[in-house]
Amino acid sequence: MTKAKLVIIGSGPAGYTAALYASRARLDPILIGGRETGGQLTLTTDVENFPGFPDGILGPELMELFRKQAEKFGTKIIDKNVTKVDFKRRPFRLEAEGDTFEADSVIIATGASSIWLGLPNETKLRGHGVSSCATCDGAFFREKELAVVGGGDSAMEDSLFLTRFAKQVTIFHRRDTLRASKIMQERVLNHPKIRVVWDTVVEDVLGDAKVTGVKIRNLKTNQGSTFPCDGLFVAIGHEPNTKLFKGHIDLDEKGYIRLTHHSNTSVEGVFAAGDVHDIRYRQAVTAAAAGCRAAMDAEKWLEEQEHPGTPAVRTAARHVA
Ligand code: NAP
Repeated sequence: MTKAKLVIIGSGPAGYTAALYASRARLDPILIGGRETGGQLTLTTDVENFPGFPDGILGPELMELFRKQAEKFGTKIIDKNVTKVDFKRRPFRLEAEGDTFEADSVIIATGASSIWLGLPNETKLRGHGVSSCATCDGAFFREKELAVVGGGDSAMEDSLFLTRFAKQVTIFHRRDTLRASKIMQERVLNHPKIRVVWDTVVEDVLGDAKVTGVKIRNLKTNQGSTFPCDGLFVAIGHEPNTKLFKGHIDLDEKGYIRLTHHSNTSVEGVFAAGDVHDIRYRQAVTAAAAGCRAAMDAEKWLEEQEHPGTPAVRTAARHVA
């Protein structure tokens, strides 16, 4: 059994930033980061919109820097998955693959994961041509024909990345306008290796041992056809990683953590930061900012528990000159 004032769950920008602030506030936080640390940015290539990196930085490299900075100030990082939580009484209890923790406060920063289409053959062909991670799997498709589903920034980013390898990338989008930011749209629509097929859904992915094509349908004409390809990349958004917390704290109808005020959840002493509660912004920089807020809120709350009635005057930000 390990005891801590603060346990942070999750190792994306929110979790590491919370850890950085909490360790500088001398809370000696433990960050349980999961088996695959670093969150969604480890699945991306160039990050061009994180302030401070005018030439861009690779997602995995950025997350390594986040981790190093949190460790530098004393955060203890456990590369295991949290498997159980009990928020009924304090100290809270958490289990992580055989380890048990008692925590006076908790910050949940477990982020979000890719959504799949739910096609009949999608699961069977995952890893055999069906993927939701262009960065991870793109290089397997040199000179191949690829299909991408989605009309948001993820689909644009994935398609652009896939052109490094693929012969041709075809985006199937269910509407006639893209949701992605203008700059990404421009890059995609002007790219000689990318074409967009509008008003079209993918109804199934074809192939036995590997992908040979996709079954598509035009929603305007209702005409179905087959598009031969070697890979299908699904880029239709994300869902919050909150299964573990169902029944323990309030979630909204989409499964995102509901904040009561500031970064507080429905359980006093449990805070949330990043994509796990934020359906709107979902950026590395907003997640990092939320991690900072959660650490400051946790610190203030812990201090109030220790010295009831005395409003905390210090904040994590002011701790180290
Ligand atoms: P998103 O913005 O929610 O876009 C999801 C796309 O998938 C939409 O175009 C949607 O179509 C489509 N879609 C959803 N369900 C579908 C289904 N069942 N069948 C077919 N199509 C479906 O998700 P995202 O692209 O992952 O982006 C999420 C957030 O991260 C956004 O705020 C985005 O700006 C940000 N992001 C930024 C960057 C960057 O700046 N470099 C990169 C990636 C993501 P509709 O349009 O018809 O709804």
